[in-house]
Amino acid sequence: GPARAVAPPATAAGAGRARGAGRGPALSVAAATSVATPRVMARTAGALWSSAGAIGFVGVGDAAAFSGRSTILVMAALALAAGVVIGLRAHTWPRGSFHVIAAGGAVVITAGTALAASAPIGGAIAGLYLFVVLDAFLFFPWRTAAAHLAATAALHALVAAATGQSVVLALLMQVTFAAAGALVGWLVRAAAEATVDPVTGLMNRAGLDRVLAEHLRGSEAPSSAVVLLDLDGFRGLNEGAGVEAGDHLLRTVAQRTARAAGPSATVARSGSDEFAVLLPGLDEDAAVRVADALRAALPTSASAGVAVPVRGDSPASLVHRAKGATYEALERGGARTVVAAEADGGGARLRAALRAGELAVHFQPVVLPGDGTVVSAEALVRWFDPVRGTVPPDCFVPVAERDGSVVELGRWVLVRAVQQLADWRGRAGLPQSVAVNVSHRELCDPAWAGATLALLRAAGLPPQALVVEVTETTLGRDEDSVRANLVAVRDAGVEVSVDDFGTGWSSLSRLEELPVTQLKVDRSFVARLGDGVTATPVLEAIVQLARGLGLTVVAEGVETAEQARAVADLGCTLAQGWHFGRPVPAAHLGAPPTA
Ligand code: C2E
Ligand code: CA
Ligand code: CA
Repeated sequence: GPARAVAPPATAAGAGRARGAGRGPALSVAAATSVATPRVMARTAGALWSSAGAIGFVGVGDAAAFSGRSTILVMAALALAAGVVIGLRAHTWPRGSFHVIAAGGAVVITAGTALAASAPIGGAIAGLYLFVVLDAFLFFPWRTAAAHLAATAALHALVAAATGQSVVLALLMQVTFAAAGALVGWLVRAAAEATVDPVTGLMNRAGLDRVLAEHLRGSEAPSSAVVLLDLDGFRGLNEGAGVEAGDHLLRTVAQRTARAAGPSATVARSGSDEFAVLLPGLDEDAAVRVADALRAALPTSASAGVAVPVRGDSPASLVHRAKGATYEALERGGARTVVAAEADGGGARLRAALRAGELAVHFQPVVLPGDGTVVSAEALVRWFDPVRGTVPPDCFVPVAERDGSVVELGRWVLVRAVQQLADWRGRAGLPQSVAVNVSHRELCDPAWAGATLALLRAAGLPPQALVVEVTETTLGRDEDSVRANLVAVRDAGVEVSVDDFGTGWSSLSRLEELPVTQLKVDRSFVARLGDGVTATPVLEAIVQLARGLGLTVVAEGVETAEQARAVADLGCTLAQGWHFGRPVPAAHLGAPPTA
């Protein structure tokens, strides 16, 4: 609701000061500093009113009876109460009310001073003008604050003259107040510099984090959304047309985004060419529409990611999700809006599915291409969701990889694969080894190799009976723990296969150093065989390469008899594909060959 609307003034903080930054409607808000969020302004103004009331109450209550004394006491009590109301509610009032609150304070103090019978008491009450001046310099732009100061000084001089006090002393007091106000105002602005982006005048990432932290405070996730905009190809412009042109574009984007996002939104420049928009009170669908409108308002193509806060979100986690969606938009060609995956990446759902028994492991035979003899089987996970139906692994494995639940998934598949193999071993016509897909995330756990070898031992299986399939990309990253894990299992005798070989990283020279024993040629290369094509240069080269390095070659995705013959003739060690058998439950592999 509007009560949670956050800090349009912070959005505009410094906008007037920024070089060339225009003053679009969304940027011209009557507040100067980034501490001037409605909540902070309400609390501070309320505290000043209350303490002014309390000081008046105690101070005058102490004095001997004089004619206006009871009136001042009533006014002081009312000011105290007003302070409480202002502190609790003023952030929900229109922004202009903060001017009324400050000016009202000056009027009340003037009345108190006028009512005071003696010059000392009047002078003491006039000291409370300091609160008005501080409030103005804390929260309003310099010029507005100066106007408040001038009005306060005029009231002070008038009341001093009217009650026979020294006007000179009154003005001297005001000069002191002005100095204090200017100092406080300057300190606040200096502190705020750290949260303002000098190029666009918008908040920077630090400012955004503070606003988000305030926004996300509380046990329930607020109904709101964050849109992250990333300018497509900004780096190119910056390098091509120069930094000046880049800055100009950023300022234009800042202005148009702030204008299009509307007054209740908070806009920040959260990265070099990345803008964040907090949209209070909007749900995901509405935020997507706003994101599309924002993109349309920009002079350049942009990718947008939308994320909605969930319970327990931090500013970092929320922005991280939105950023992930932006990357996805970028990867899909940019100029589009993508909604972030569920907060937990669907990992909770997958873990629940594991517990609920909705997952199964199917096995696809790996054969000798010449005669189709089953040698091995690849374990492939299957998810039968009662609501969504069969979910293909390509849909949930990458997600599980991102949020880490793939570690549990991989372990679960490995345990089942090993159990199944123990059952098959020594029985004719059945796989005598099993291949398991292992994701990068699993190999980051330094304990992975030990746990895997222990599992084989416990099942009474030799390490040679396991094939670990790792993608080229995983190998290409070459992290220490990944390498150590693979070296450990390979040294123990486990086969290590490069899955989807030929599609990813391809530093052939490094193949020699890597702990691999097998190349699993990607099925896209096999798909080129057939219709009279019996060999391709790439396949021939891969087989030659493997031979030279002493690696076995598996041809994947063999769908026809013609392809089967071709890969056999090419010299592939093993083959796999629909022609030989689809992935099926283990029991379906049970039938011994009839030949
Ligand atoms: P992959 O490791 O390349 O697995 C081979 C994929 O090709 C399987 O898809 C399989 O069903 C399919 N396939 C087999 N023969 C043929 C064929 O002749 N023609 C065609 N067009 N496709 C064929 P699936 O089961 O959908 O798995 C997709 C990917 O999901 C796998 O690719 C693997 O990367 C991942 N995956 C599956 N199970 C696991 C698992 O337990 N752990 C991990 N980390 N990843 C898994
Ligand atoms: Ca595989
Ligand atoms: Ca593959």
